[in-house]
Amino acid sequence: MGTLSKYFYEATRDKTCRDMLHPGCTCYEAGKIYIRQGVLGAMKHYLPGAATALLFRMNHWDDPEVWRSCVVQYVRCIVAGLPMTVGSFHFFCGFYNLLGRFSATFFVFLPSLLGACTCMFLPRSIVRAQGIGLFNMYIEFLIKRSRGRTMEMLRTSRLAGTLLFSAFSAAMMPALQYLQIDRFWFANVYKTSPSPQNPSKTHCTHHKGKSCLQHITLQIKRSFYFGLAIFLIKNIVPRLLLPFKQPTKFLRLMVSRFDYGLIGFFVGYKALYEICNCMLIRNNITTNPLVRASIAGFASGAAYCLYPNYMLFTYPITELIEVYWLVYMRSNLPKPGLARVVDRLPTALLAYAFSLGMMYHLRVVYPYYTNRYCHKLMDNGTSGRSETLARGYAEIMMGYRS
Ligand SMILES: [Zn+2]
Ligand SMILES: [Zn+2]
Repeated sequence: MGTLSKYFYEATRDKTCRDMLHPGCTCYEAGKIYIRQGVLGAMKHYLPGAATALLFRMNHWDDPEVWRSCVVQYVRCIVAGLPMTVGSFHFFCGFYNLLGRFSATFFVFLPSLLGACTCMFLPRSIVRAQGIGLFNMYIEFLIKRSRGRTMEMLRTSRLAGTLLFSAFSAAMMPALQYLQIDRFWFANVYKTSPSPQNPSKTHCTHHKGKSCLQHITLQIKRSFYFGLAIFLIKNIVPRLLLPFKQPTKFLRLMVSRFDYGLIGFFVGYKALYEICNCMLIRNNITTNPLVRASIAGFASGAAYCLYPNYMLFTYPITELIEVYWLVYMRSNLPKPGLARVVDRLPTALLAYAFSLGMMYHLRVVYPYYTNRYCHKLMDNGTSGRSETLARGYAEIMMGYRS
């Protein structure tokens, strides 16, 4: 962070915010544009979430209350999301005018602080998703930026990525099995731990009344539909009118964009997990459900090779931290006072606050190391303003503009 601020300061010493962020208009004019673009950006950014929520309540569409609460929620998101979509640009100009120079710290710190204040008004699920998502992007940045031959090898090798993901998965499954909680992961643990004592010839205890084959097929089907639903939400919501206006173009687009990798990963993970689990039980290999979960978890991690990417890779890292914290809190291990304080901290909120300004800063200063999704998110949210800033900054750094 120290060196980052130094470069940021040096590169921007004799530049004004007009050079970098809003060529051709004054700060006041730009400020008004930011707000308009920010509101529009936020409307676009939160629309998929709002549409999905409404879709889930399809059966209650005749109830005006459902529509009202959905609209209220949507407006709340737009307003509380403003620090993410406009805040930092106002700070950028504001601090330039106040201090007469750019300050990387303020560019990072204040949007974060404001984001933290307003994100209390965002629905918890959104804060969680965005906080963890942004934090994962920060981990991705750290991985992409780390130097050294070993890191280089680990970063580019699909085998190494898959083995590491398998290791994460082998750690995750027994923790979920131990906690018996309902948490999003690519395979589910069974509430009643299957007892291996008297496995009947054809049935395991965790799928009574079905053969292993029937059980595994059912689970695979569920994962397939889940992957399909994600693909559809991702691809249809941004272009809701296209299927009505140009159905053939829409179909062509859906076929060309079909996410084989992602759906393959969901299906492969679940299939490997269920097959391993049943095999371990039927052959009476181990009686300990935690060991079984770990072995099956390791095997199913192999599905990562179908969809190797940073978003998937960083997801278990933050999940493991959270889940193992829960394991520790539930265990009989001694818990000093500090642990209780940490336990009460709103982690998702803090992750959101920390990562928000950080990702803004990194997006501008290190565009090549930051996640493409982050670029898209910010471009959407700021109606392209972040792109202008990043380009302005790059041009000044490279000496194209003096
Ligand atoms: Zn300005
Ligand atoms: Zn079975």
